[in-house]
Amino acid sequence: MSKMFTIPKEVSRVTNALLETGFEAYLIGGCVRDLLRNKKPKDWDITTNATPEKIQGLFEKSFYENEYGTVGVVNEDTEDKTLKIIEVTPYRIEGKYTDGRRPTEIHFNATLEDDLKRRDFTVNAIAYDPSNGQIVDLYNGLTDIKDKIIRTVGEPEERFSEDYLRILRAIRLATELGFTINTYTEEAIKKNAPNLEKISRERVRDEFSKILMSQHPMNGIILAHELEVLKYIAPEIEEGIGVEQNGDHIYDVWEHNLRALQHSADRDWPFHIRIAALLHDVSKPETRRWSKEKDDWTFYGHDVVGGRVAKKILTRLKYSNAEIDVVSKLVRHHLFFTDIEKITLSAVRRIVRNVGPENVWDLMKVRACDRIGMGRPKETPYRLRKYESMIEEAMRAPVSVAKLAIDGARIMEITKVTPGPKIGFILHALLEEVLDNPKQNTQEYLEKRVQELAKLPEKELEKLGEAGKEKKEEEEEKELALIRKRHWVK
Ligand code: ATP
Ligand code: MG
Repeated sequence: MSKMFTIPKEVSRVTNALLETGFEAYLIGGCVRDLLRNKKPKDWDITTNATPEKIQGLFEKSFYENEYGTVGVVNEDTEDKTLKIIEVTPYRIEGKYTDGRRPTEIHFNATLEDDLKRRDFTVNAIAYDPSNGQIVDLYNGLTDIKDKIIRTVGEPEERFSEDYLRILRAIRLATELGFTINTYTEEAIKKNAPNLEKISRERVRDEFSKILMSQHPMNGIILAHELEVLKYIAPEIEEGIGVEQNGDHIYDVWEHNLRALQHSADRDWPFHIRIAALLHDVSKPETRRWSKEKDDWTFYGHDVVGGRVAKKILTRLKYSNAEIDVVSKLVRHHLFFTDIEKITLSAVRRIVRNVGPENVWDLMKVRACDRIGMGRPKETPYRLRKYESMIEEAMRAPVSVAKLAIDGARIMEITKVTPGPKIGFILHALLEEVLDNPKQNTQEYLEKRVQELAKLPEKELEKLGEAGKEKKEEEEEKELALIRKRHWVK
């Protein structure tokens, strides 16, 4: 069978150079799959019978990439980032797998047939020769693309046992492509899901992120749950299944979190918003209590506990400290802005201080996900503008000690206090006052206050500075103490 696709010249430069030297060269994997689905490929992979040394000899700018003999060929004069580096991998047969992760040996004297045989799914095992349009499809990948099916090349159990990450790749590809997984392949996934624990958290993380970054992450998480895989990635999310909520909620906690996540994808928002949306109510199940007075469920402290649980999940999955920090803050503070009519400007300033000015607009996005995830209509443009103007107004005032009209050095000068914690306490106490009334952020007023504050005992000063910061948490502290006792969160 043959078919002519238009290939970027940067890619045909590489295949042509190999062919002209007498080697074979085929496009392979995701790019062929995408061409056949009339989609634009994300990256271009080439497979060849040339050895890594021969490949490197052919291209001036190239580098050895990994233990599989992949050579990265660099295109210098290209605008398109996806064409900067084209990966060329020699055909290979993989030797015996002993640990379910990596082949113990790799042979480089393989044929195209060998190379197709070691690929994960039929839709990824189609080779395409761009010089003549020849398609090599030994595993009926074309039919599976037409029928939208993910199916392993060969026996699913055997293929998964070679590399258990393929379990997650199947779910990720099904989610990204909108395909269904073949029944035998599904059964093998369920059976082998516990083996995902053997896979490095980094590899798991990368597939999990791709599921969240797809257009229909809600489907992906549901599929991961149905195939009994989610519990080996983030079991906390499944706690929400069947957990009924209060008042305005029509969905259980699980579906609400998923719908919030889906909204973040519908809006094409970045990763940290998506995962914050997915996790924003993750701790509702463990904080749920029945209130006789309210005759309804309450979830006091689910934001505080949720922030910690989010941190725990992301840490376990080896996300970066920056990602962990922002996501746990977004979850921790997602409850704010609930009632625009009642909220005061000084309360908004405290929110901005707590979540960080750089995260406050993202917090609004998480809020939008929360709302849509409840099945509520979008915020009216009027109310949205009201929120935005309140935040902007709040951000004009100082929301951190760095923005005060006085600094530590000046405080030491005035009070003759030597460097130490006391200076910090005074600064925070001043910030508390300025958060309530930004007009007080003048050198004159603050210097006067410093003299008064400096006379207070250190303990009292400390309290003043901490007071506003932890106000909400203090209220919840009693409730939280109970929750902590019953659960593993510290
Ligand atoms: P994407 O569109 O995300 O790039 P892809 O299918 O190209 O999808 P890659 O991770 O780029 O995925 O891998 C390229 C090809 O290498 C795959 O299409 C598949 O043939 C093969 N492959 C990748 N990972 C594995 C694996 N763990 N086991 C077997 N084959 C794999
Ligand atoms: Mg690829």
